[in-house]
Amino acid sequence: MGIPKDRAEELLRENADHRCEDALDTCVRIRAIADLPTRFGEYQVVAFESPADRKEHAAFVHGDVCERDDVPVRLHSECLTGDAIGSLRCDCRDQLIESLERIGQMETGIVLYLRQEGRGIGFVNKIRAYQLQDAGFDTVQANELLGFRPDERDYGVAAHMLGSLHVRSIQILTNNPMKVADLERHGVRIVGRIPVAVPPNEVNRPYLETKRRKLGHLLDLEQFDDLTDVPEGAGR
Ligand SMILES: [Zn+2]
Ligand SMILES: [Zn+2]
Repeated sequence: MGIPKDRAEELLRENADHRCEDALDTCVRIRAIADLPTRFGEYQVVAFESPADRKEHAAFVHGDVCERDDVPVRLHSECLTGDAIGSLRCDCRDQLIESLERIGQMETGIVLYLRQEGRGIGFVNKIRAYQLQDAGFDTVQANELLGFRPDERDYGVAAHMLGSLHVRSIQILTNNPMKVADLERHGVRIVGRIPVAVPPNEVNRPYLETKRRKLGHLLDLEQFDDLTDVPEGAGR
């Protein structure tokens, strides 16, 4: 049972002319809601659009999350190479699938799919950073060489999306303490953290080590050292 039809219509109505004049850069409106049966369970997809730049974002919603507390939420930043193509350079696809599978088995939950490729630096710059990494730099050094901070994601949009869905408080699925702090700064009530553990593959292990060392991710990569059968990561 997802968001009931009458509730969905109400959300669409109240979003029709919505506009945050004081924070237009992070403002989004719900424009459409539809059922989305997936291999990970029953979902609904909520399509958001920014009134300022027409940027589109998605919430994949499992269960009726409106006016609910403790809703498990995963923030996922778009990664074309990982999500769609199965690149082994990162763990985005594994994390996305793990989140959809876990939330699909819970009572309620949301995967927010944010259109901010390459941690907010854009697709071309992400590939430029890969190019630098191919030349021997690590992911943080590469971003710095291009003039970006290691993580430019803005959680204002995510916070707004949760607000638009009338979610009261969340449990966040993440290993990244910055996400918790950033969301709280944007007014989201976080009542718990659910760790997401995905085994590394041969290609992305150095990238994950960098995430842990330089970006403060709480990854326990040693826990996977005993695994003889490490999944390829792109297989699912
Ligand atoms: Zn707004
Ligand atoms: Zn990725």
